[in-house]
This record gives sequence, structure tokens and C-alpha cells, in this order.
Amino acid sequence: MEQTLSIIKPDAVKKGVIGQIVSRFESNGLRVAAMKKLQLSDADAGEFYAVHKERPFFGELVEFMTSGPVVVMVLEGEDAVAKNRELMGATNPKEAEAGTIRADFAESIDANAVHGSDSLENAQIEINFFFAQREIV
Ligand code: ATP
Ligand code: MG
Repeated sequence: MEQTLSIIKPDAVKKGVIGQIVSRFESNGLRVAAMKKLQLSDADAGEFYAVHKERPFFGELVEFMTSGPVVVMVLEGEDAVAKNRELMGATNPKEAEAGTIRADFAESIDANAVHGSDSLENAQIEINFFFAQREIV
């Protein structure tokens, strides 16, 4: 059993598709073990995406992630890290496979609806960034 971190990004929250996205996870064997809605500060977003600090799109990424509330979740299930990435689809929604969350709900590579941890190790770091142990049940 694995845990992974999922974020429903500001574009998808604004569109009102939180329920539809959560439903994709639940109907594909991923259980919601923790969930909250919050507004990221510049410092929060910068720290969360610190690995991308040197990338040319870092400023836009932080601006986008702080442009409205997000929903953060711990998803739990068999192969949760890979399963979540599979349900999300490619980073660029134009390249995302039909039926994936990004193909169905995202507009562009910046506004791409969801985040998912890319490894088990990063999943633990990202979960600890957002949640206390007593919030994960
Ligand atoms: P995420 O980490 O958000 O789940 P990802 O793992 O699919 O997405 P990363 O390579 O980690 O993709 O990039 C993090 C985020 O930075 C992407 O979701 C996207 O919004 C943005 N991003 C990545 N590459 C570009 C790019 N070339 N131009 C603009 N934004 C980009
Ligand atoms: Mg990533």
C-alpha cells in the first residue's frame, strides 16, 4: 500500500470540478486519506516547487499556484504514486491521453488541473509539507 500527494490546482477549483476529479480517484482504487482546501502563499508555492527554482517557468508556476485556492489530498492505494500519475495524464494536456484528468479538465501546460508526486520518496516529503500525522486517516 502506498500514499501519494495530489493537488487540485486553482484552474480546476475555479471550474468547479473538484468532485469530478475526486471521483476519478475513488473509482480507480485510490482512497482519500486526507483532504483540505487552502490558499498557498508565495513562500508555500516556492518551497513546494523548489526543485524547479532554476527553470524559466518558475515565476509563472508560483504565480499560477497562488492565483486561487487549491485542494490537497493524500491518496492511498496499491501503486498509488504511479496510478495517480496515470490518471492525471501528461504534463501538457495537449499530449495527455484521452480520458485522463488533464485531457478532460486542463487547458495548458501552466494551468494543468492537478499535481501528483513523482516518486514514493517525494510523496512522503510532500505529504509532510501539507499534513500532520493526525490528519491522515
Ligand atoms: P506536477 O509537478 O505539477 O504534478 P508534472 O510532474 O507533470 O507536474 P513537472 O515537470 O514537475 O510536471 O512541472 C511542474 C509544473 O510546472 C507543471 O505541472 C507545469 O504546470 C509547470 N511546467 C512544467 N514544464 C513547463 C513548461 N515547459 N512551461 C510552463 N510550465 C511548465
Ligand atoms: Mg512534478
